[in-house]
Amino acid sequence: MVTIIGGGIAGTLLAGALARDKRPVTVYESQPAGGAGHFLALDDRAHTALTRLGVGIDRLHEASHSLTELRAADRAGVIRSDSRTERRLYLRADLMRALTEFAADTTADLHYDTPITELNSEGTLFSNGDPVPADDVIIAADGIDSLARRRLEPERIAEYSGQIIIYGITNRPIQPNTDPSVLHFHRQLDDDGRPVSTFGHFWNNAISVWFTRLTRGPLAVQDIGSQPLDGWTKTILAGTPAIAELVETMLAATETVHVSNARTVPLADARPPQTPVTLCGDADHAITPAAGVGARDAIEDAAALAEAIISGGSPAAAMAERRRQILDERAEAAQMFRSAT
Ligand SMILES: Cc1cc2nc3c(=O)[nH]c(=O)nc-3n(C[C@H](O)[C@H](O)[C@H](O)COP(=O)(O)OP(=O)(O)OC[C@H]3O[C@@H](n4cnc5c(N)ncnc54)[C@H](O)[C@@H]3O)c2cc1C
Repeated sequence: MVTIIGGGIAGTLLAGALARDKRPVTVYESQPAGGAGHFLALDDRAHTALTRLGVGIDRLHEASHSLTELRAADRAGVIRSDSRTERRLYLRADLMRALTEFAADTTADLHYDTPITELNSEGTLFSNGDPVPADDVIIAADGIDSLARRRLEPERIAEYSGQIIIYGITNRPIQPNTDPSVLHFHRQLDDDGRPVSTFGHFWNNAISVWFTRLTRGPLAVQDIGSQPLDGWTKTILAGTPAIAELVETMLAATETVHVSNARTVPLADARPPQTPVTLCGDADHAITPAAGVGARDAIEDAAALAEAIISGGSPAAAMAERRRQILDERAEAAQMFRSAT
């Protein structure tokens, strides 16, 4: 009854939630099972949606690390701190493992290594030239470079947000001289007070991870993805002179980094959600990783779609409502940012 394009965070969760309710569901995912590269923080809203759909809280805790505070500092000291919201930090691979187990435990029909390479607005799908059986409800959860969005709304193209992002996971836990279980952000400003770079890190007894965002032009497609750290060491250190010792310690224990352009899919002038192919998650409204809410939004989309489909409602209406919420929340966040600066 439901076909899902993309078995990332939203697609896998939606598949498990629908199949748990005895709905026939098929997922086509272009990659092998799993997924790696970076880490992400999920807040209590994301966890509420995940558990409401049936993902076990114990399994989620096992896959993640307690994150007690987000703390931002610059040369002058701490400038912002948030310990009100409960968050947990996940390596993406660990989150995907937990979600894949959740879906694989059901009757969901999961096809990996099966890219959807063409589709049309009537909902006919093809994989490498061959037609693929599809149902009357098709959810496109195929991420920021969504083929479905390119076909349905070719004018809605992901836009570069002005920063590249580099994520590193150390090969052994590093315990620097900072507070554990806190996601620390250090911001470097130029002489005019504009952000040049942000360096973030998190550590506990089990893992240490870091990222940096550098303000510059976008990278070419061939320069994106997993790669050796070596080519980036100088650039990262040049952007973080105030915390050079900390950064050097983290980099010394890192071999591979995940590099990407921070991008956002514009939502304000989007065409209303449609059937039979309905966009979901990053495919519909990706936001720069700097906002730290993309996965939470994708999880809440999956919850809204599951609840609509199970109750006989319209997936397009559910996504129209989700877009309203997301646009309201982004406007509120922008307003708070303006008043804080
Ligand atoms: C570096 C980085 C850090 C981030 N940090 C955070 C954070 O701290 N907090 C947060 O909330 N969010 C964060 N995000 C955002 C978050 O990862 C995304 O918003 C989230 O993954 C979106 O989920 P999704 O299911 O929509 O897309 P994805 O998880 O990207 O899944 C899309 C899936 O579709 C598959 N696919 C693509 N095309 C096809 C095709 N044609 N056929 C079949 N399959 C296809 C892909 O292989 C992929 O598995 C971060 C993102 C990045 C890049």
